[in-house]
Amino acid sequence: MKKQSGYVLHQTIVNNEPVVVIATMESDNPKTGNMVQIWFLLENHAPHLAVKSGLDAKTVCIDCVFASGNGCYVRTYQAPLSVWNAWKRGNYSSLLPHQYADVFTGRKIRFGAYGNPSIMPVSMVKAIASVSSGYTGYFHDWKTNPYASEYAKYFMASTETESSYRLAKSLNYRVFHASPVKPEGMQECLNTLQDTACINCNLCNGLTKSRAPSIWIDPHGSGKDKAIAAALSSVN
Ligand code: SF4
Repeated sequence: MKKQSGYVLHQTIVNNEPVVVIATMESDNPKTGNMVQIWFLLENHAPHLAVKSGLDAKTVCIDCVFASGNGCYVRTYQAPLSVWNAWKRGNYSSLLPHQYADVFTGRKIRFGAYGNPSIMPVSMVKAIASVSSGYTGYFHDWKTNPYASEYAKYFMASTETESSYRLAKSLNYRVFHASPVKPEGMQECLNTLQDTACINCNLCNGLTKSRAPSIWIDPHGSGKDKAIAAALSSVN
């Protein structure tokens, strides 16, 4: 098949809003390295405007305390907007499960460059992961998603407060903890610790590495101050 810069993997509805799931094949993100990036975008709302209106928190970013401009490091008016615009221009065609091997074999996948990867069916995550050479992923709705234990096989449970990481640990999930306070026994993210890119680290793959430690990261980026405030004040 003819290779493209990106593909539509899935379309679904979240809280009455159509959502499109897109994989883009090349990335110059220095933190991740050149991983396939998977985006979860509202079809009818540009991502930066959905953050402004608060629609993100009800749809693609459910259960994230950093949503709606409260500390998320993703600049939605940059890469997410450009992917959304490219999709609107018709640049990405649909990719079907029997084509996954052609496109994802030998590639490392970042499930959730923006948005909750638990929006994809578990079967799709499993099919892509099984032909890839590695993956990372983080999901915020692990307390409310009925299939959370299935997603946790592939993704880290995102937490920000002591009570939420204790709850996630009690469920035996691996955790990605963003907080100014580092819990005992957690491994600091290797990117912030020693500048290793995710593509070479791959620690954040949920229970795939069930014996690996959970990961801690100090909030960073343009939303750092708000993220710290959200992490310290959230009761979630
Ligand atoms: S611990 Fe590794 S895989 Fe996880 S975010 Fe940091 S560099 Fe990426």
